[in-house]
Amino acid sequence: CGIVGYTGSEQAKDILIGGLKRLEYRGYDSAGVALERGDGAGLDVFRRVGKVSGLESELEHLDLASTCGIGHTRWATHGRPSVANAHPHSSCDGRISIVHNGIIENFAELREELEGRGHRFTSDTDTEVFAHLIEEAYEGGNGKPGSHDLLAAVREACTHVIGAYGIAAICADEPGVIAVARKDSPIVIGQGATGCYVASDVIALIDATRDVVVLEDGQFARLTPEGVTYTDAEGALIEPAITHIDWDI
Ligand code: GLU
Repeated sequence: CGIVGYTGSEQAKDILIGGLKRLEYRGYDSAGVALERGDGAGLDVFRRVGKVSGLESELEHLDLASTCGIGHTRWATHGRPSVANAHPHSSCDGRISIVHNGIIENFAELREELEGRGHRFTSDTDTEVFAHLIEEAYEGGNGKPGSHDLLAAVREACTHVIGAYGIAAICADEPGVIAVARKDSPIVIGQGATGCYVASDVIALIDATRDVVVLEDGQFARLTPEGVTYTDAEGALIEPAITHIDWDI
């Protein structure tokens, strides 16, 4: 339902919670964030059923210095509202985490195939196949070598998926990187004074910047603290169109 992501020089936790609160008006049943520890150390994932304020209280007393992360408010389509079904969803080894808006229509076939290749699933969502497809493309599997490149792995995963998606992914082995893709589900990206932002709705990043890129279907983005690169389905660089938001909220 709602996606936020930040990579920059500030603590990500408060920015993600702030963004998720901005998206609350859309309705949701659960919320979560994944934060990258930095230096390849790993990811911390926190998920809760219920309000963003509950997630906020859980994180309040934790010393989370992370400056890169993704967050989600979920409106369940496949799998009941529960902690296990809340996003972010992670790869088997926990080094890749993703948030997803939309519906993966062929998730049942993909899940069966992935389980046949040894992937263990921990939720009833359609979304989780995306995490495992990205892991397989990243690490290698199903007869293909690993890309060891998060955005390339996201691009490969998208070729297997039928349905609607806006996704943002992070990987413990690529500090500061957020990989983004979309098809039939909105994604906006912006660069602020301290870093780069992604969200499913401009309202979540308007405090940081009013110059945004509305990602188009089949386009991909790679965010780092320094900036964003945009690519097409073949991986070729594209020049994005900037939209200036001049309305007030
Ligand atoms: N289909 C996904 C799920 O049920 C995503 C739902 C959403 O867009 O929030 O987990």
